[in-house]
Amino acid sequence: MARIVQKFGGTSVADVERIKHVALRVKREVDAGHQVVVVVSAMAGTTNRLVEWTGQTSRLHDAREYDTVVASGEQVTAGLTALALQDLGIAARSWLGWQIPIRTDDVHGKARIESIATAEIKQRLSEGQVAVVAGFQGIGPDGRITTLGRGGSDTSAVAMAAELGAERCDVFTDVDGIYTTDPRIVAKARKLDRIAFEEMLEMASQGARVLETRSVAMAMNNRVRLQVLSSFTDTPGTLVVDEDEIVENRVVSGIAYSRDEAKITVEGVADRPGVAAALFGPLADDAINVDMIVQNVSADGATTDMTFTIARADLDRALAVLQRQRAALGFRALKPDSNVVKISVIGVGMRSHAGVAQLMFKTLAERGINIQVISTSEIKVSVLIAADYTELALRALHTAYGLDQTE
Ligand code: ADP
Ligand code: ASP
Ligand code: MG
Repeated sequence: MARIVQKFGGTSVADVERIKHVALRVKREVDAGHQVVVVVSAMAGTTNRLVEWTGQTSRLHDAREYDTVVASGEQVTAGLTALALQDLGIAARSWLGWQIPIRTDDVHGKARIESIATAEIKQRLSEGQVAVVAGFQGIGPDGRITTLGRGGSDTSAVAMAAELGAERCDVFTDVDGIYTTDPRIVAKARKLDRIAFEEMLEMASQGARVLETRSVAMAMNNRVRLQVLSSFTDTPGTLVVDEDEIVENRVVSGIAYSRDEAKITVEGVADRPGVAAALFGPLADDAINVDMIVQNVSADGATTDMTFTIARADLDRALAVLQRQRAALGFRALKPDSNVVKISVIGVGMRSHAGVAQLMFKTLAERGINIQVISTSEIKVSVLIAADYTELALRALHTAYGLDQTE
């Protein structure tokens, strides 16, 4: 007998029929004698609609009320899933974040889990009850509902698995595993049997939304056995494992893309010590994360251009912050561009292989795709290109790195 966590994403609980189907999947584990915790997302499309409504009602909305609204989708699916299980003769009870409680910090809209009380749930599991937990939500220090950031039910599931010492955390979604790149864009994407935690962490943080970034970090730190699989088929999924559990010798494991990017070029700033600090300090003070940075060589020896990227949602705020600093920074002009995409090739094999970046640059050059900004880490190379070339670049790189599926 084992204790397991099963997480079902939005498409898996998109309507009542699918929720009944989820209940049947849970029943299989209960029948096998396991203790089961189910974590559910809101029905597909629901959270987007709730986010839209808050924006339409109040443009600069209060983050606490945003959480009150957007957390509601998971309340519905938790209740319905418990009902569907009860109808199959299984003792089941729904749990909202505050009822467990899942305690978080006070960063409404993107809260971090700080602790989870498990005594009551453990007791009920031992009595044969299934716990259906509403994902994505917790309770903050102010006693109000918080949400964990988009895609956050993955984190709820991994956190429950870690806290309960679960044997597995199965994440059921609308694809049957983790692929070399988004299978909805590249038809030749290949399903991986295994991927290393570090690779998945980079993939997630560079835009592959199949697992939320924090959930991967949490699984890695707490040694949670994490698996991604489809709720619609019975095919084996992808296991996220330690690097040394991967036998296949590959340099690049996957390619991710993120459309959530915006670029700002600051033209004509003074080329002297302290300028970068003066430019990026105020952005950091305003909690705006700067990702890629490039400083052009100075043509006249006195001034230069600085280009950097931020999350698209921060663009207006970043421009306002920089305008306020204009006198201090003395730049000539600000050039924003949100028609960009960041493409990243990722693989732990890069540590020991040269030439990965060069193949990326060459492949894009052959397609006439201009690279605007580059950044690298030990296991990743990222480039910023015009968004119009997203599909072309992904397909070309996928082929160039030998990732295409062979029929
Ligand atoms: P859920 O609602 O189940 O959490 P998500 O939409 O958050 O589902 O995540 C699943 C989606 O992630 C897939 O439909 C797929 O389009 C996308 N995706 C992006 N990159 C990858 C990848 N490398 N492997 C698998 N899916 C990916
Ligand atoms: N429902 C939330 C969202 O759409 C959380 C999740 O699905 O993981 O972001
Ligand atoms: Mg998701």
